[in-house]
Amino acid sequence: MPAGYQHVVAENGADLSLLAEKHAADILVLDVNFGEPDPFAALARIHKRHPLLSTILLSSRPEQVALRSLRLGVADILKPPLRTSDLLRSLRYIQEERALVENKVILPLKRDTRSLKQRAQAFQKLAEVGQMITGSLSLDQVLKAAVDAAVSLTDAQEGSLLLLDEQTGELYVRAERNLDDHFTKTFRLRVDDSLAGKVLATGEPLLISRQGPQKIKTAYLVHSLIYAPLRIGEKVIGVLGVDHRDQVGDFTQEHLLLVSALADFAAIAIQNAHLYATTEAERDKLNTILTSVRDGVLVMDNEKRIIFINAMAAEIFNINGQQAVGEHVSRLIYHDTFLSLVENAPQQLPEQEEIHTLDGRFFSVQGADIPRVGVAFTLHDITHLKELDRLKSEFVNTVSHDLRSPLTAIMGYTELLGRIGPLTEQQQIFVERVQNSVANITALVNQLLDLGRIEAGFDTHKELIDIGPVVRFAVDSMQLQAEEKSQDLVTHIEQELPAIMANPARIQQVAENLIGNAIKYTPSGGRIEVRVYSEEHQIILQVSDNGPGIPSPDQPYVFDKFYRGSNVAEETSGTGLGLAIVKSIVEAHNGRVWVESKLGEGSTFTVVFPSELPYAPNTPP
Ligand code: ADP
Repeated sequence: MPAGYQHVVAENGADLSLLAEKHAADILVLDVNFGEPDPFAALARIHKRHPLLSTILLSSRPEQVALRSLRLGVADILKPPLRTSDLLRSLRYIQEERALVENKVILPLKRDTRSLKQRAQAFQKLAEVGQMITGSLSLDQVLKAAVDAAVSLTDAQEGSLLLLDEQTGELYVRAERNLDDHFTKTFRLRVDDSLAGKVLATGEPLLISRQGPQKIKTAYLVHSLIYAPLRIGEKVIGVLGVDHRDQVGDFTQEHLLLVSALADFAAIAIQNAHLYATTEAERDKLNTILTSVRDGVLVMDNEKRIIFINAMAAEIFNINGQQAVGEHVSRLIYHDTFLSLVENAPQQLPEQEEIHTLDGRFFSVQGADIPRVGVAFTLHDITHLKELDRLKSEFVNTVSHDLRSPLTAIMGYTELLGRIGPLTEQQQIFVERVQNSVANITALVNQLLDLGRIEAGFDTHKELIDIGPVVRFAVDSMQLQAEEKSQDLVTHIEQELPAIMANPARIQQVAENLIGNAIKYTPSGGRIEVRVYSEEHQIILQVSDNGPGIPSPDQPYVFDKFYRGSNVAEETSGTGLGLAIVKSIVEAHNGRVWVESKLGEGSTFTVVFPSELPYAPNTPP
């Protein structure tokens, strides 16, 4: 005890373990005659549990126990009677050994462990801040966390995140740790003559280790500091800084790396927040625009669920716009024509389709494929145009009707001219010209009247017919014209076509118009094919030619009244009414007509009629 040791005494094996544990003993002095039957087994047990415990063995025959002692790592063997001087020598020897182990092994190990722990902590902190950025936390929280982490990982006294105010060109404190509140609020740093400004300008981080006071700002002195730039792309928008105001700590390159990593995180968070705010603002703007336009807008995804519907579209379909989002279009909208457009999208998108609503309005529907979103339909109110169209038709009808009698009179009198006296050759030519012109005007007037009649629905006569012979008759009547232009007029008409309810004279008119156009527009020597066949309860009439084709921009309009293609020569005869009549007749028969054409290659006009029954001419309708 005078040599500075404390001791406890154990009476048996169990006692011994307990004591070694409880007192965290360094040295065990063990008599081989100690109460255990095999003292070496007890020693081996204790060594296993307390590997750092050094043992001095007391034995009257040291030579006999030496080998086993050596194997168990016994530090020394003393021979009783135990003398203090021997014991102290042994103890000193053990202590020296221990000091050696401590210095060479344990201390470096402890140092490494501490540094590893610190690094692990640093990574943990970095990961936490990184996670916060992807989490839904506010920018304030993320920036504050970045400053906190910078301060605690570098053991700094204080830290701050300074951002550039673009307007004034000054840096202000966006987040801080351990700064005075008043100071934070009033802190403004000019970029041109400050250390932070230098980092901002160069984009390079700055480390000043303990060198004596540095001036951050007038009367604001620090002993050591780190500033790392906050970079967004090429631009530096601020700095993350930590410092020691007193001479208590210092910074290392490792600290600089940590603060730089945190600064990168902070910059990402700021950029994300900025992008988010911009996107939100843009979205709001777009929403407001789409919501307030006077056209109906409905956007659906590829599964045909409503993504967006504006007030006008909701009103057109008489649904609650707010509750519509996410619903399948067909669950809310019952408009047949619109649903068929939805059905065919996005493979077929309407360009000029018309729909008629229950309240009597007309809308022109257009569809647009929006990649990665779905399809957008816009509905434009054309009710007033329809009304104008109706008034115009009425007017044209009246005028055409009134023109018929004078035209007949003119024609009659020109025919009489030759009968009341001989005409000179010149007079004869003039009379023929007058007659030609009158014939042209009469044809136009007749076409106009025809169209008026069909559009007004006066044309109610329909019977069950096989359209094969009707089309054949039309082809035969045009054969001569085709021969005059040395054109091949070929027909493929299926036998035993299903019957359709139709007006045969009108069907003939459709065929004659389409074949007539093909002959007229296809140059001499061309080829024209007429096909009639049935497919899935439909009768299809197709007229194709290898003529000049129709420019794509013209294609949607060729069925409009008076529309003539931009590639048609001025002197080509025609009124622009033929296809309008075709369309009116086809629609009056619940059919559809369209054109597919390639410039320079030819055109194909297709008419589809719904068939009612297999052909049975003797069955009354
Ligand atoms: P018109 O033939 O009197 O000009 P239509 O209404 O019959 O009037 O046709 C409208 C337009 O469609 C024509 O002016 C022409 O540009 C185009 N068109 C119709 N049929 C053909 C065809 N077979 N080949 C090329 N263009 C055609």
